[in-house]
Amino acid sequence: MKDTKANAAAIDVRDLYVEYRTDDAVVRAVNGISFRLEKGRTLGLVGETGAGKTTTALALMRLLPDRVSHVAGGEIYIRGDDVMALPDRTMNLIRGEIISMIFQDPMTALNPIMTVGDQIKESLKIHNSEKRSEREIDARVDEVLELVGIPAERKKDYPLAFSGGMKQRIVIAIALACSPDILIADEPTTALDVTIQAQVLALIDELKQKLGTALLMITHDLGIVVKTCDDVAVMYAGQIVEYGSVQQIFSPGDHHPYTEGLFGAIPNVRSKARRLTPIEGLMPDPTALPEGCKFSPRCPKCMEICRTQEPAESERDGHRLKCHLFGGEAHE
Ligand code: SF4
Repeated sequence: MKDTKANAAAIDVRDLYVEYRTDDAVVRAVNGISFRLEKGRTLGLVGETGAGKTTTALALMRLLPDRVSHVAGGEIYIRGDDVMALPDRTMNLIRGEIISMIFQDPMTALNPIMTVGDQIKESLKIHNSEKRSEREIDARVDEVLELVGIPAERKKDYPLAFSGGMKQRIVIAIALACSPDILIADEPTTALDVTIQAQVLALIDELKQKLGTALLMITHDLGIVVKTCDDVAVMYAGQIVEYGSVQQIFSPGDHHPYTEGLFGAIPNVRSKARRLTPIEGLMPDPTALPEGCKFSPRCPKCMEICRTQEPAESERDGHRLKCHLFGGEAHE
């Protein structure tokens, strides 16, 4: 059932499939995922490289490279609007005004031959539903730079004049310029050193509190999840294998063996979360996913049934698990 606009979630993804085409194969990068992000909340999308996190974000923004990829099934709603059905023009307006994305590498997100002020201004001009005058746009450029802790007079500088942390602040300023309701942050601190990481995360959190933005935080870093997220979706091979509140995911109890693996490699991780340590083995080749459970070749608890039958999802109190260990409608 489609939500009415009034009660619509910020993001509502239902049974989403995304495929990439290569010369000789079709790769299923996202394999039937569902989640909701409510207004003002933060959802962490967690997993190793290749799990399908960024592909999910690009599908939400309708920015999948269209010659080689497409949404092969499912539905995406942004504040109740059916993203797949929107005309391109409407989607261009929604992107920036309603939903915005902070990319991982600030150097590729910024134009090196345009001043940072002009880059913020350009975004404001493209998405000018408030019909701001030139003077109001200039004032807004100053305002968002100050908001991310950069003196407004530096708007005349080019990206090269800034450090990595400052560049990421500028990327955040561009993303926030039009006050979007929803922000997707794709590994926003990976390219930064640890001290600057903490500053940028604190800034995102502060802005979220101030502006009431819903945040989709894509990360492979459990430390970031525990500090910034309300809910967590653990992704593996294009599927969500565990979903719950931060409390449910970080407390002892029933957990997917992959989630256990993410935590288990680190001593006392549930009280002191750190960067994910690789689990033995590799994510499966997406052109040749295993039968049954996609984690079975790496799972220390793998049973006979796991190699042939895809596990169903069980759910209790909003905590979802996709594993034969917790079969049935609700896990015990
Ligand atoms: Fe491991 Fe089986 Fe659960 Fe997959 S379904 S995670 S192989 S126990």
